[in-house]
Amino acid sequence: MVDLKGQYEKIKDKVNKSVLDVIESTAYINGPEVHQFQKELETYLGVKHVIPCANGTDALQIAMMGLGLQPGDEVITADFTFAATVEVIALLGLTPVLVDVDPVSFNIDVEAIKKAITPKTKAIVPVHLFGLAANMDAIMEIARQHHLFVIEDNAQAIGGYYTTKTGEKLKTGTIGDVGSTSFFPSKNLGCYGDGGAIFTNNDDLAHTIRGIVNHGMYKRYHHDVVGVNSRLDSIQATILRAKLPHLDSYNNARREAAKKYTEAFSGIENIHTPSCGCDAQPSCNCHVFHQYTLKVKNTDRDALVQHLNQNGIPCGVYYPIPLHLQKAYADSRYKEEDFAVTNQLVKEVISLPMHTELDAEQIQFITQTVINFVTK
Ligand SMILES: *Cc1c(COP(=O)(O)O)cnc(C)c1O
Repeated sequence: MVDLKGQYEKIKDKVNKSVLDVIESTAYINGPEVHQFQKELETYLGVKHVIPCANGTDALQIAMMGLGLQPGDEVITADFTFAATVEVIALLGLTPVLVDVDPVSFNIDVEAIKKAITPKTKAIVPVHLFGLAANMDAIMEIARQHHLFVIEDNAQAIGGYYTTKTGEKLKTGTIGDVGSTSFFPSKNLGCYGDGGAIFTNNDDLAHTIRGIVNHGMYKRYHHDVVGVNSRLDSIQATILRAKLPHLDSYNNARREAAKKYTEAFSGIENIHTPSCGCDAQPSCNCHVFHQYTLKVKNTDRDALVQHLNQNGIPCGVYYPIPLHLQKAYADSRYKEEDFAVTNQLVKEVISLPMHTELDAEQIQFITQTVINFVTK
């Protein structure tokens, strides 16, 4: 699905030297590399504050802690996402409210958000799924009307844009009150272990969060709030510093691969290719294709997975089970008819190999193998 080795080979000298320098420096925790990376990512994103932390799941949890959400508060998020998003809501004693998604963008359905709001609702967590921004204009509008926080789960979309209705291009993760990301190795900006970060333009919130990630300390050995221990280490930071200048070209390589896939599948009736819905596509750069996800119609999707695997092609099903049907997150308040889209998507989606090192020959083989099966 990914080719981390091929990507590493191209930046090997720089990465190896940087890692050895950190080892020599012995500044393994909270060293200058972490601080430098923080500054560079702030500049790249055009956001006032980046707070590095240990992983993308922590980033979400800490963002919610920083906003002061309390047990019993309801937090609305998408039924069709990675479990981390809902997990941290539940873990903090908040009440997750899962809602359906849009069948084209795969992102949280704005009408479903409106329907789910109650007097207890405190926040919305849009996930920019597979690298495509959720409908942030509408989400920010709903949040303003109902005085809700917006926490963007940007783990799959770093470097991506959202184009507002006034034509402004905003980096995903910097639009809501707070954003979070993951530097898990296979993410669009991945380190060589675990890592994550929180973004905000709010000075007070940034201050609060900087204390939370460090055991609730604002002054050494004074613990003002209950915090956590969540750090990005210096070795991961130096690797991320080596990779950040390439992030735009990495995302471009993903877009190029996506364009080739989409061209090859054009005219195949049973294959629905991913779309950002933007007027400028496919030359726009909204989508950063963390995944390239098809919907297959009138096809046994699981048999297609098997067929690809038999031909040596890796593929993935993200996600095979709606969150509202997972044992940990099931709730008697949920009604099946409210999840019609997610319930259908879990049967139809299939994600093809997507990374920065895909070449035309590989794409040709993959698309031909898919088409042969779907049209047979
Ligand atoms: C990967 C991911 C996370 C969690 O990131 P980790 O660094 O693995 O903890 C959260 N949300 C989404 C949507 C993700 O894809």
